[in-house]
Amino acid sequence: MNESKAAHHLVVSNLAKSFSGSTQPLTVLQNVSMELTTGDSVAIVGPSGSGKSTLLQILGTLDHPDKGTVSINGINPFELNENALAKFRNQHIGFVFQDHHLLPQLSVLENVLVPALSLGKTSTDQVTRAHELIESVGLADRHEHLPGELSGGERERVAIARSLLMSPSLILADEPTGNLDRGTAETISELLLELQQASGAILIAVTHSEALASAMQQRKELLDGQLL
Ligand code: ADP
Ligand code: MG
Repeated sequence: MNESKAAHHLVVSNLAKSFSGSTQPLTVLQNVSMELTTGDSVAIVGPSGSGKSTLLQILGTLDHPDKGTVSINGINPFELNENALAKFRNQHIGFVFQDHHLLPQLSVLENVLVPALSLGKTSTDQVTRAHELIESVGLADRHEHLPGELSGGERERVAIARSLLMSPSLILADEPTGNLDRGTAETISELLLELQQASGAILIAVTHSEALASAMQQRKELLDGQLL
């Protein structure tokens, strides 16, 4: 697929996040900073409970930091009102989750179109793009299937296609291969990276998979709230 490679820029400065605990606050992130541009890919690794998902939630603007700022293409999403933020998230950020979050009653095609539907009616261009993405993830003959009729790896392929629909600046993946057998995980990792490279989007993926982590440009470890 021919994509125009727009310039993408993510700047994360001194993020901090705590949750209230039973006795004292639980500090999950401290002074987390990074800067990434077009085509960059970073694996975030770290033990369970180290704050990886919390960091992705904040980068995905689904949660607010206590301190620090996030800038995506020069815009601080946390300064937007709720409606503008929802629109911004939809246009600039693609999500791939471990358990795919596909809507069971919608077909593969409809699931891939969900990010467009939430902004209103889908355009012919978007439907064409959805078809192309479904082909590019190897599901050309499955447009009308429901998620329940697909294997785990195929569902993850649909989730990857959906994450790319709006040509996002940032793709956030939380253990995208976590539920897959090793062979399928490798195939899906390659596919995700190939499509991310083709699109020029910035990819940040939390992963326990050595295959995926080593295929990405950078690796950062979250430990004691700090990104190393
Ligand atoms: P990871 O994805 O690295 O396993 P998480 O980001 O999910 O870690 O969680 C980091 C820590 O923050 C954990 O101790 C978790 O229990 C806690 N935590 C996450 N979300 C919340 C929340 N909404 N309220 C309270 N504690 C939370
Ligand atoms: Mg997690």
